[in-house]
Amino acid sequence: MTFSGYKRKSILSEKTDMSCPFCESKSTISISVIVKYYHFFNIPFLAVGKRGISKCSNCKQVLSSTEMNDQIKQVYNTIQAKIRIPLVYYIGSILSLILVSYLLLNLFL
Ligand SMILES: [Zn+2]
Repeated sequence: MTFSGYKRKSILSEKTDMSCPFCESKSTISISVIVKYYHFFNIPFLAVGKRGISKCSNCKQVLSSTEMNDQIKQVYNTIQAKIRIPLVYYIGSILSLILVSYLLLNLFL
């Protein structure tokens, strides 16, 4: 068990009506947005980025955002632009900042 490190979690998964470029099945592509964050004792401390993947439910082909074709990448960019990383992935930093501010105020006042 690690006390700190990086984790990844899917924050959105959306089905599309696009066809798979490999097996050519219709409406089998779903796009997921994944956030990478640093955790300390499993408490999310700081989100360091988000990335996307597309997955075909028929042939299980998974593509990263750099491997997507133009059509899938255009839909991914639209989805990715409207998704913000939830505040909960910064909760460790926020709580630390509040604690340090409280301690400093008590020290000097
Ligand atoms: Zn496929």
